[in-house]
Amino acid sequence: MAVLLVTNDDGVHAAGLVALAEALEPLGEVWIIAPEREQSACGHALTMHLPLRPRRLGERRFSLNGTPSDCVNLGVLGFLPERPALIASGINHGSNLGDDVTYSGTVSAAMEGTLLGVPSLAFSLMDGHDQFTAAARVARLVAMRALVEGLPPKTLLNVNVPAGEPRGLRFTRLGHRVYSDKIVEHVDPRGRTHYWLGTGEPTWEALDGTDMGAVHDGFVAVTPLHLDLTNHRALAVMTDWAPALDGQLRRREAAVPAAPAVRKRTRRR
Ligand code: MN
Repeated sequence: MAVLLVTNDDGVHAAGLVALAEALEPLGEVWIIAPEREQSACGHALTMHLPLRPRRLGERRFSLNGTPSDCVNLGVLGFLPERPALIASGINHGSNLGDDVTYSGTVSAAMEGTLLGVPSLAFSLMDGHDQFTAAARVARLVAMRALVEGLPPKTLLNVNVPAGEPRGLRFTRLGHRVYSDKIVEHVDPRGRTHYWLGTGEPTWEALDGTDMGAVHDGFVAVTPLHLDLTNHRALAVMTDWAPALDGQLRRREAAVPAAPAVRKRTRRR
């Protein structure tokens, strides 16, 4: 029976993780390695300066004092009895859509699995909902398909499930957020200024064909994400910068060019 690794960023006790592990049970031997504490918005972080200590919580179920990417590394690089055939991350409590995916520990776990050559899937359920039945069914269907077909090279699937019973499933591209966030400034009782990030409702550009649009319409959004971050179109266009920059770099005797004018900041720091 194939070994399947399940992890998340909400922590080993999260209801979404339990639902995902149960959903995949018919497809293989499910192992859980998940962070002992919530790690939401930790992104792709790895723990390099602390020892990682797995704790056995039950049959094939471990917590780790680390990030989702740590859990994936441990699982793929030798802690499990064999290399997993599939990695499933989630089901996250809250959506992971569009430009927000790089913040997501849930999606980053799937990125890590992909980098290590294991087909990987990330699952998230719309914010503020804790009924994982439909999302678990989606996870089983998508995982089954991925196990049979495999995934394209360097590609993971980012799956977002709407609240309630989905109207269907769409393949989508990442949507783009309109960043209108502000920092919120407060003063604490000792007179020190501090700041809060991540406040305010996100708004989105045109929704057609995007993950946000599909979820907004009540559909499951499946977005294939590619880990080659090179902008190949820009690479083709920008090669004409090379001769000039290359020449300047080689002319060591050339005067250091004047620094470009920097707009003066008026904000108080
Ligand atoms: Mn989370």
